[in-house]
Amino acid sequence: MSVFELEKGLFFQTYRRLGVHIKRGEGVYLIDSEGRKYLDMIAGIGVNALGYGNEKVKKAMVDQIEKYIHLSNLFVQEPQIELANLLVQLSGYKKVFFTNSGAEAIETAIKLTRKWGRKFGKVEIIAFSNSFHGRTMGALSLMDKVKYRDGYEPFLPEILIARYNDVEDIEKKVSHKTAGVFLEFIQGEGGIVPADEKFVKKIFELRDEFNFLVVADEIQSGLWRTGKFFAFEHYNVKPDIIALAKPLGGGLPLGAVLGNEKVVDVFTTGAHGSTFGGNPVACSAGYAVIKEIQNGIVDNVKYIGNYLQEKLLMLKEKYRGLVKDVRGIGLMVGVELSVECFDVVNRLIAKGIIVNCTSNNVIRLLPPLIIEKEHVDLFIEKFDEVLNEIKQ
Ligand SMILES: *Cc1c(COP(=O)(O)O)cnc(C)c1O
Repeated sequence: MSVFELEKGLFFQTYRRLGVHIKRGEGVYLIDSEGRKYLDMIAGIGVNALGYGNEKVKKAMVDQIEKYIHLSNLFVQEPQIELANLLVQLSGYKKVFFTNSGAEAIETAIKLTRKWGRKFGKVEIIAFSNSFHGRTMGALSLMDKVKYRDGYEPFLPEILIARYNDVEDIEKKVSHKTAGVFLEFIQGEGGIVPADEKFVKKIFELRDEFNFLVVADEIQSGLWRTGKFFAFEHYNVKPDIIALAKPLGGGLPLGAVLGNEKVVDVFTTGAHGSTFGGNPVACSAGYAVIKEIQNGIVDNVKYIGNYLQEKLLMLKEKYRGLVKDVRGIGLMVGVELSVECFDVVNRLIAKGIIVNCTSNNVIRLLPPLIIEKEHVDLFIEKFDEVLNEIKQ
């Protein structure tokens, strides 16, 4: 039996798997069971920021494995302290809580927001249309897409969904009851949609007026994906809470929540916790990932991000009507098509390129941050061919 047949028999069929059987990764490439090479333009959905096989990250993992793989949070652990210290220094935020995933970071942020709000008699949380915050019941409660929520009702109470990038709607929904606003500064799963400047400005004006927390979901957009440490830095604002995950553990499961001075005292002993949260091997890897990106890769993100978007805009000109929009910041880029994109994904795979299709018609690109010009050229060449095939 093929691995594809085995998968069908064994698993709840929640995932739409690609029809390739990957055996290993090498730099920005994946290699399948027949030795075919694929340029990876999605990088484990934004996790593999340094591609495959980074020596420093591997060494950090192995060194820690030799000391201990797990201790539990009954103990203070050096790898946690080192990574937390680095995050605090880089961000200017005050406190850290480590989780195992993005959704758990969101859960942590929901609990932090609710408990903070309680002091002021506020419980309401506002989140936005078309957003994605994860698959747990708390995270789903912040979302409005039927595809993710159908059948799981009832959700958390006292949550309002305002329209993303709609200044009037957020103005209408915020009140003295608002404890927090959860926001992706650039929606990922939702089709790579950056927040408008005046929309963000309005949210922060309302925060000053009504005293609530702004929670930035930087799980996909954080850690220099957009060329800056956090996507919100492009807007010159400072949220109160930040959720991180995807690339944070160098491929191991790791998330984090950072909080500013407003929330430093909200969680007390026993008020929150996690058995695996802040796994020391994952934290060691995370420290190495951040150091590696800082060490010359940040400029690459800006340079290659611009280059990629320039080339895509040329394709937009060439295939007017088929390519509706090219959007994004840095190496978080979306290409909106006028057709469903699953077929495009498969055609690109046949040509040795892995991309992702999100929101039905948006080709999402989250390549490793180490990608070079020649890789972008290869991708553009094959994408051009596929668009030409589809146009027929
Ligand atoms: C992936 C993602 C999450 C959920 O993270 P998981 O690790 O899958 O739980 C939440 N928010 C955003 C913006 C994401 O991209």
